[in-house]
Amino acid sequence: MELVDIGANLTHASFRDDLDTVLARAREHGVAQIVVTGTSVEESRCAAALAAVHGLYATAGVHPHHARECDDTTIPALRELAAHPQIVAIGECGLDFNRNYSPHPSQEKWFVAQLELAAELGKPLFLHSRDAHPRCAEILRNLRVGKAVAHCFTGEAAELRAYLDLGLYIGITGWICDERRGRHLVELAKDIPGDRLLLETDSPYLTPRDLQPRPKARRNEPAHLPHILRAVARARGEAPEALAAATTRNARAFFGIA
Ligand SMILES: [Zn+2]
Repeated sequence: MELVDIGANLTHASFRDDLDTVLARAREHGVAQIVVTGTSVEESRCAAALAAVHGLYATAGVHPHHARECDDTTIPALRELAAHPQIVAIGECGLDFNRNYSPHPSQEKWFVAQLELAAELGKPLFLHSRDAHPRCAEILRNLRVGKAVAHCFTGEAAELRAYLDLGLYIGITGWICDERRGRHLVELAKDIPGDRLLLETDSPYLTPRDLQPRPKARRNEPAHLPHILRAVARARGEAPEALAAATTRNARAFFGIA
């Protein structure tokens, strides 16, 4: 069984001391490829460097939390980063109306700028949207978004429908294992077409709440991806092996990786 973790924040400080062990554990658990998430220009640079050293892939983008830090140098810097062979998508970018760390107009401005960059470069888009439906879908529709994944999808049926209608792929994390806030995802998982589904851990965040035994440090890591695979397979009434094959095929086609 081979899996692709399409979103792991491996530049996070919690991986500084034992990244080699974490990556070895991921391989032991069948995680064949990992896409490291870039969340700011600086973090994207780190992600690209880390990907080059460890044979991983990465995204280059600015998370909506960091929109307020963007300036005239941001898009040229991302454009330059995107030329690195490890960079397989633009993002994560989008809207986050949950935490509101950056004002909405600034979030929208830099989301649109990154959408345009992805279109210019012909790169897929790694989209972050939290409590931003329907505005996010509206922007994607107006700008005729190309290939994109709604990473860490946690929304309701209407939001899922809007993204599927826009041709988006849907990234599912261990949120689906959360008996408090992920129950609706167990229902919705069946509604995602098999050729649009992707899996991710969003490490070190979103440790599946039903992991047994519970990891000592609460840190999530790519080795937990098979656990998420099994939860999604259960929700869809599919064999994990078949779902693994399908999601891996989807991920490789989406990012253009072998
Ligand atoms: Zn995100």
